[in-house]
Amino acid sequence: MQGFNVLHPIGWDAFGLPAENAAIKRGVHPKEWTYRNIDQQRRSFKRYGISFDWSRQFNTCDPEYYRWTQWLFLRLFGAGLAFRKLAPANWCPKDQTVLANEQVVNGRCERCGTPVVRKDLTQWFFKITAYADRLLDDMAQLEGGWSERVLAMQRNWIGRSEGAEVEFEIAETGDRVTVFTTRPDTLWGVTFFVFAPEHPLLPALAEAGGTAERVKELQDRLQRTPLSERDQAGTREGLPLGVHAVNPVNGEKVPCFVAPYVLMEYGTGAVMGVPGHDQRDFEFARQHGLEVRVVIRPPGAGDLDPDAMTEAYPHEGVMVRSGLFDGTPSPESIGRVTAWLEEQGLGRAAVSYRLRDWLISRQRYWGAPIPIVHCPSCGEVPVPDEELPVLLPDDVDFSPSGESPLAKHEPFVNVPCPSCGGPARRETDTMDTFVDSSWYMLRFCSPTASEAPFRSEDVERWMPVDQYTGGINHAVLHLLYARFFTKALHDLGLVSFTEPFKRLLNQGMVIMEGSAMSKSRGNLVEFAEELAKHGADVMRISMLFAGPVEDDVDWATVSPAGISKWLGRVWRAVWAVGERLEVSGGGVESRAGDRSAPEGSIRRLTHRTIAGATDDFRRFKFNVSVAKLMTLTSELPRHLDAGGSAEDLREAAEALVLMLAPMAPHVAEELWREALGHAESVHLAPWPTFDPTLARAEEVVLVVQVDGKVRDRLTVPADLDPEASRELAFSSEKVRRHLEGRRIERVFQGAARPGAPMLLNVVTRP
Ligand SMILES: [Zn+2]
Ligand SMILES: [Zn+2]
Repeated sequence: MQGFNVLHPIGWDAFGLPAENAAIKRGVHPKEWTYRNIDQQRRSFKRYGISFDWSRQFNTCDPEYYRWTQWLFLRLFGAGLAFRKLAPANWCPKDQTVLANEQVVNGRCERCGTPVVRKDLTQWFFKITAYADRLLDDMAQLEGGWSERVLAMQRNWIGRSEGAEVEFEIAETGDRVTVFTTRPDTLWGVTFFVFAPEHPLLPALAEAGGTAERVKELQDRLQRTPLSERDQAGTREGLPLGVHAVNPVNGEKVPCFVAPYVLMEYGTGAVMGVPGHDQRDFEFARQHGLEVRVVIRPPGAGDLDPDAMTEAYPHEGVMVRSGLFDGTPSPESIGRVTAWLEEQGLGRAAVSYRLRDWLISRQRYWGAPIPIVHCPSCGEVPVPDEELPVLLPDDVDFSPSGESPLAKHEPFVNVPCPSCGGPARRETDTMDTFVDSSWYMLRFCSPTASEAPFRSEDVERWMPVDQYTGGINHAVLHLLYARFFTKALHDLGLVSFTEPFKRLLNQGMVIMEGSAMSKSRGNLVEFAEELAKHGADVMRISMLFAGPVEDDVDWATVSPAGISKWLGRVWRAVWAVGERLEVSGGGVESRAGDRSAPEGSIRRLTHRTIAGATDDFRRFKFNVSVAKLMTLTSELPRHLDAGGSAEDLREAAEALVLMLAPMAPHVAEELWREALGHAESVHLAPWPTFDPTLARAEEVVLVVQVDGKVRDRLTVPADLDPEASRELAFSSEKVRRHLEGRRIERVFQGAARPGAPMLLNVVTRP
């Protein structure tokens, strides 16, 4: 309506666990279940009159789509960004599959809420960590377009910290163990050393220390313990390993422990214990009777007494008990110690990230097969591009067993090696469904391309996405993955830009009686009945009017009946205007004369409404714009009755219908053509424009009375709120004089009416 070409696509992110689990529960094939649901949802969207471009629709589970997901996987594989490694993985015992760190929420499966345990498996990963710095730096492109909240969540998720890597030697075995620390200036305060329970050196060290049995016991127990109970905030339990680490800065031997509070995922899986200056280390030292050594003195204060400390001192200060560095203040001490470590060959400056590589293997059926063949002589061999897609076979027993269902499908698994022709095995893991949605925005530009995932000219025309809408739940999942994919494709020369989404709006969800509705929870409310009762337009506006778009809408508190009544008033008022136009002979063609002066006419309100609603639309304040249209609707009949000019009424009615069109497309179309006599669709008409002079807030006279006597007349904006007009009245010298020595009992205030004075009466008593 404002002259832009808009691509408003819809597609179905249709692979993944929810479909597979629902299918298992109902005994239907996931494919059948998925396509049936897509059909149903599509019919529902169409009933709502949503303006998607249906010609661009696709499903990520269509072979024509996942062919290109596989093709892109192979491009990443070729670039060294897709690789396999043995790694401890998050395992959902209910879904019988691994989960990415991003899919573990408070130690539980993001999908089903089951506590997640650990499992060692060889898995496929995307090397998202290679892009950690660019994912951070390129956020500069997103500032102002994305909410600070989402940017902060991504920043935290990536978790970049600067510090040093330092090598400790294990006295008994000679193994060298690297630790990462952000505070190399506290190295002289190390009094113990801790390994994560999954650290690969652990069995050998425990063996050397004579603690193998107890350590194995702890490891086995932790394997069965949900991650949520191992959280950093929790236990400070730990076992001595019976071996010692040599502190490289002073040659001191400190005892080694294994403790669950050290996580293999972060840093190097081993930490130096500095209880004087790290709170978790402090708690561990107190629990295990270890020395607390103070090596940082708070600035401008005396030395801390380790015995009297009730918590660590993690802040900046001056180095003490640190040999040649005594007296060096932080933060410069960190750089100086790091430089010295490098000189001495004991360590180096390093950056650490919280971000881990993206685990994309799933041991489940309903996903895109990973297009790799494992050959005993050639290793991991990519399926040639011309053999894509690697089709997902239909006849598979997909009930969860902990192993990929595809592994039991002999014809799928046993294939010749594409390279040497010898007998080989096809990869049986499928891809995380987030891979599918990491590039779908590109496919929407060229949905039918059969020679490539997308055509450059289409993608360069439409991308990056100007306005993206999605829930906050995607802040560190989809949005991070799609940003990574875009950067990787940029580096492969496939796209010219590095960020996929310029502006992001996080809409709320429609919930029911306080809890979320979602397909994975299976508590979707069937709107079909209310839709049948009220019609699509009422349902659409009810949703928009329920509150700010960023907030959740609790359907239990929404009143479609109220909106239905309002649309009824719109209907009657616009028809009445149409009839007046017919009587006055003002067909669509005639636009001449017949204009009232702005004072007292509806023109000011019309233009003010256009100005306000246009701005509301631009800022997605749909609920506020509906409220403005409601005001204009109530004024129409008054001006009709008062015999307002036909042209003024036409202008008001047309503006109302045009601004209603995006929200209530059916009612607006009917009114535009039938009541107002236009030949073309309202959806092809331009958005109404306004005259800034007319749109400016009107002024009215505020008559201030004290105990019924007029004391002052003030000129104020007509839309001044009551609070502000009272303040203005009480600040008038003439009014104040009559209030002296009296107490204000009540203040009555009349409503503002265009062209009429507004009354404010102050009632006082002595
Ligand atoms: Zn689960
Ligand atoms: Zn081979």
